[in-house]
Amino acid sequence: MKPIPLHHVWDYREVDRAFWQEHLEGWLPARITDAHMHVSRPEHRLRPMTEEMRRQFWVNEVSEPIAAADAKRCMDTVFPGREVRAIAMGAPSLAFDIEAANEYLRRESIARGWHALSVAPPTWSQERLAAELDRPGVIGIKPYYSLIGDDSRTRDRYLEAGIFDFLPHHALEVLDERRAWVTLHVPKAARLPHPQNIREIQEIRDRYPDVILVIAHLGRCYAEPHAREGLPCLAGDPGLFFDNSAVLNPAVHRLALELIGPKRILYGTDNPVFYMRGRRQWCGRTYINRTSYPFYFNKEREPPEVEASYTLYMYEALKAIKDAAEDLGLQREETEAIFDGNARRLLELTTRQG
Ligand SMILES: [Zn+2]
Repeated sequence: MKPIPLHHVWDYREVDRAFWQEHLEGWLPARITDAHMHVSRPEHRLRPMTEEMRRQFWVNEVSEPIAAADAKRCMDTVFPGREVRAIAMGAPSLAFDIEAANEYLRRESIARGWHALSVAPPTWSQERLAAELDRPGVIGIKPYYSLIGDDSRTRDRYLEAGIFDFLPHHALEVLDERRAWVTLHVPKAARLPHPQNIREIQEIRDRYPDVILVIAHLGRCYAEPHAREGLPCLAGDPGLFFDNSAVLNPAVHRLALELIGPKRILYGTDNPVFYMRGRRQWCGRTYINRTSYPFYFNKEREPPEVEASYTLYMYEALKAIKDAAEDLGLQREETEAIFDGNARRLLELTTRQG
């Protein structure tokens, strides 16, 4: 087959179609909700991405804004024959015109049967947040520590912030009252297991029990030690949810399924970044991204015959979920819950409240 362009520098090739056929076609459920997808337009950037920023953080080099129509086209390409919808969010960055970007995403989401999470800076008043949640199509918010303050040099200036610094109590009061959805990317270099993260997530659950709280990327537990240390601390709360986006590690998916269980994990991609081609390798608490495109961060290339076998990161993630599910003998309906049912159930909770 001729490669089909996806987004940015990525395309869909014969190797991807063969991978889909071999591993995914017979296993993936018919209905899929991608609970963590980013959609944004380059026009909404207030300042351009600089070369310096691209070199500072690998995600800057791979995350080019993707418009809704392109996102839809890519989803249809990578999930042939599946009914796919998204819980979509913009780029959580003050380098974007957040008002315009949220409004764009909201309209596009309504038109496509998706649901929108508005990017919400901690400076928003209760009235501002309530007005946002009143808008049709908006089910909740995407807070982020980089929304605390603008810094063109680094995304991580506020990495060590506490959760309440970017998801403040006055916002949580409104979110709780509205049963709104919050997809929370936990801060700190130590990731989920940092005691302050655990404590603050528990405090949100205690004080604001009607917030639909979804911890993004399994708490940023991309490597096994983080999952082993962090997930057990939160596993006992039946009302706390996780999305498994951006996690490629089968051992982490397995731990999550064992500890949290298939009823509280939502499938997500973190696309468009995970249209990247390659594979990830782990060493202790760190990982290395292998890819065949000559990005600046891509210093250690693998042999050409290995690179030729690379498929999309999102396919590697799906295969990792599949391996973990098969290892644990997951039932069909449990797999369906991860890919669609759990999201559907939570969406009903958010939209029931008038
Ligand atoms: Zn994300």
